[in-house]
Amino acid sequence: MADQIFWLGHDSFRLEGERVVYVDPWKLAPDAKKADIILVTHDHHDHLSEDDILRISKADTIIVGPLAVTRQLSPKATLVKPGDKLTVRDVPIEVVPAYNVNKKFHPQSAGYVGYIVTLNGKRIYHAGDTDQIPEMASIRTDIALLPVSGTYVMTADEAAKAADTIKPALAIPMHYGDPNVVGTRKDAEEFKKKTKVPVEILDKTH
Ligand code: ZN
Ligand code: ZN
Repeated sequence: MADQIFWLGHDSFRLEGERVVYVDPWKLAPDAKKADIILVTHDHHDHLSEDDILRISKADTIIVGPLAVTRQLSPKATLVKPGDKLTVRDVPIEVVPAYNVNKKFHPQSAGYVGYIVTLNGKRIYHAGDTDQIPEMASIRTDIALLPVSGTYVMTADEAAKAADTIKPALAIPMHYGDPNVVGTRKDAEEFKKKTKVPVEILDKTH
């Protein structure tokens, strides 16, 4: 089920289907595949990397992000906010909120986002940097990419509860594995143990 999903480390993913879609490209390989669409969730350094965006951009690549991202990016980007629904190069994209409820790194007022992307008829939700929030109850998705490392985002325990609420056919843990941020594979394994939904812990690829 996850064959179209490539984990590039931390929160960085390449989703392949009718188009090549990256979410939060960061620390990519020098020869990384070019993107048709680049989605950025917010402007923290481990999510917004202009160098990586430029590396995978071609003439017709479309970059999408909330105001915190678009206002500091020199390539032209499409501005979105939570609640938006748009079609980008024939790919349906829903923009959903991402924020903290028990810490202050990602206030709701900042307008940071997650995305639900439909590729090959499958809905893939990238949650962004978020806690378990009430809006998750209305998220419909086949696959959920959820942060599990705590500190800035949900802990493994909270992420397990979020997954049990969202009930995707498959959940994939993220936001761990970078030595300079937070979280290890242990968090991913803890998440897998605690949630009732099927989980696949992806190996990092490029
Ligand atoms: Zn963040
Ligand atoms: Zn983060």
